Amino acid sequence: MTVKAYGAYASDRPLQPLEIARRAPGAHDVQIGIAYCGVCHSDLHQVRSEWAGTLYPCVPGHEIVGRVVAVGAQVSAFQAGDLVGVGCIVDSCRHCQDCDEGLENYCGHMVGTYNGPTEDAPGHTLGGYSQQIVVHERYVLRVRHPQGQLAAVAPLLCAGITTYSPLRHWKVGLGHRVGVVGIGGLGHLGIKLAHAMGAHVVAFTTSESKRAAALSLGAHEVVVSRHPQEMAAHANSLDFILNTVAAPHDLDAFLRLLRRDGAMTLVGAPASPHPSPNVFNLIMKRRTLAGSLIGGIPETQEMLDFCAEHGIVADIELIRADEINTAYERMLKGDVQYRFVIDIATLAESAGA
Ligand code: NAP
Ligand code: ZN
Ligand code: ZN
Repeated sequence: MTVKAYGAYASDRPLQPLEIARRAPGAHDVQIGIAYCGVCHSDLHQVRSEWAGTLYPCVPGHEIVGRVVAVGAQVSAFQAGDLVGVGCIVDSCRHCQDCDEGLENYCGHMVGTYNGPTEDAPGHTLGGYSQQIVVHERYVLRVRHPQGQLAAVAPLLCAGITTYSPLRHWKVGLGHRVGVVGIGGLGHLGIKLAHAMGAHVVAFTTSESKRAAALSLGAHEVVVSRHPQEMAAHANSLDFILNTVAAPHDLDAFLRLLRRDGAMTLVGAPASPHPSPNVFNLIMKRRTLAGSLIGGIPETQEMLDFCAEHGIVADIELIRADEINTAYERMLKGDVQYRFVIDIATLAESAGA
């Protein structure tokens, strides 16, 4: 079937309306009518080919929520009408150790929701800036939030799990002092989640204008990282830092804030590397510098359920599909509170091409 979508034909061209084909649902497939799709900074990196290997046309979007339209004959967990989500993963090998442990995100054959290999036309996956998607049931999540919150649930499918997973892996909880660096789409959810897990949260931002907002998101303290004296006041004090910044920067400025045995996990994926940190900042306090990639399917469901239980959703700006290019420019300036979400119903009015 053919559906309307928004995507780009080249790295230096804006996104535009286009039409794409979706496969008919197979025995284990779930066909989803997309209601909303969040706009992740990864979408922008991918569309503009800031990471190697973007395939065109590129239809981004991996923060997908909507309703099941139809299911294949073998699908028992979902039925037409269910509220569901799809995140960054639409397939994996399903038999390696990572897949067996529910860590499909680390499977060597993980297929991303866009730009991944597929037998479907045009030979690479096309994401959620589109009216429908067809996904194997294993990679479909159940949404338990009220329907009225659906648009604000969408960003949980990437920004939510990407921040939840390292917080859980590093066992953040009551009594921990946790830093969250970069108050964008990921960072603002990192603050809400770490707060809900019981941590004392210190938000780090380059934007003076976000000082008050970070407190209202649940941070207990806010530091404007451009001010060395404010930074110095937190030296050797944090158990864990979640660093979401989308650009290369001085990691030492944050490593110095970790106490002995503290860890900083990088989730931001800038187009070019950070300057190498000073080894002495690591060895003198047995600190760890780590990374983390989204999260597996079982943990994504756990995160969605945790958020439903704690009333956590993203703070969003709902946009029309034809506002996406302006939204990218604003995201680059950090001018979004805190996630753009596309109202997919507005795609129906687009011309198609
Ligand atoms: P975003 O909404 O643009 O937020 C990034 C934040 O980083 C900005 O709001 C800004 O916060 C801060 N920042 C500081 N200096 C910056 C600079 N020079 N350029 C850009 N941002 C700067 O992006 P996002 O969607 O949260 O994504 C953040 C990064 O995580 C991206 O690189 C994305 O590709 C990556 N990502 C990784 C994973 C993973 O699995 N590891 C998953 C999703 C996304 P302040 O104004 O507070 O300083
Ligand atoms: Zn993402
Ligand atoms: Zn696998």
